[in-house]
Amino acid sequence: DERLVEAGTRSDDLDEVSLRPKRFGEYIGQAKVKDNLTVFIEAAKKRKEALDHVLLYGPPGLGKTTLASIISSEMGVNLRITSGPAIEKAGDLAAILTNLGTHDVLFIDEIHRLNRSVEEILYPAMEDYALDIIIGKGPSARSIRLDLPKFTLIGATTRAGLLTAPLRDRFGVINKLEMYSAEELKEIVRRSAGILNIGLDDEGAYEIARRSRGTPRIANRLLKRVRDFAQVKGSGTIELELAKHALDALEVDEIGLDGVDRNMLLSIINKFGGGPVGLDTLAASIGEEAGTIEDVYEPYLIQLGFINKTPRGRMTTKNAYAHFGLEYDG
Ligand code: ADP
Repeated sequence: DERLVEAGTRSDDLDEVSLRPKRFGEYIGQAKVKDNLTVFIEAAKKRKEALDHVLLYGPPGLGKTTLASIISSEMGVNLRITSGPAIEKAGDLAAILTNLGTHDVLFIDEIHRLNRSVEEILYPAMEDYALDIIIGKGPSARSIRLDLPKFTLIGATTRAGLLTAPLRDRFGVINKLEMYSAEELKEIVRRSAGILNIGLDDEGAYEIARRSRGTPRIANRLLKRVRDFAQVKGSGTIELELAKHALDALEVDEIGLDGVDRNMLLSIINKFGGGPVGLDTLAASIGEEAGTIEDVYEPYLIQLGFINKTPRGRMTTKNAYAHFGLEYDG
């Protein structure tokens, strides 16, 4: 079952491409990342070089793929998009690399999921723009080196710590994407409403924004669902009361939590006395994978200050108790 507030892509995100900002000017928020990249891009263009390899990390839906596409536009080069799990064999990656044009951008999403033999092809490709190929087998085997065009690898991952050290070390630029403020998300919602031709007032936009878990992908999705309510039950324009009504009906509460979040928080509170509880124990108790909790459920709850990560496990905070109207006994 898909969650409405899932940060990864869902089947109803198909028009994501049309909502995707095409230039830095349209890319809202992430000021530090934008400022840095703008300088590096200008410098690379002046020197007529490929941009240094870039690693982007942060939870899903924060704009990593979008940034890769903006970088390639600003560099004036082609973008090739693939992902770690999609590249099964070393030969698959070799084929992609040899087909790149000069200074092109290769975007590898979920780069931490590359398998070892594929990853080892990347090392000389990133460092020397070279491909080492083994010909023959046994004692007569020899290695030849092919030159690759100078290119830029943009890797995306949910957590930088999941990368092997040799891979991480080969990125010249490492940027963390932060969750967006409600104000920034409001701007994103207004921009998307304009593109999709949806009537929306300021308070309606803010109501969607603050329930979007700091994540543009979720903001765009909630906007589309709330539009349905506006068209069927309202005036066609999304204003405050309509937005509240629709989001309540969709079971997304006033700070963006859904049943999955509530279940996890209440498990820690009720079954483990507020914690600390180890990640694996928690995962087993709510029937989820530890990795999913770490990458998908937890980041927003940590951002809200509802969960603390301690060396002995996860703990719910006073804020989490207060959200449920429960007494906190520390
Ligand atoms: P990720 O690759 O990190 O999962 P995406 O780049 O696919 O995220 O972003 C998801 C959607 O959110 C995009 O289609 C885009 O519409 C929107 N989005 C992301 N970042 C921004 C931003 N900074 N400004 C406006 N829209 C954004």
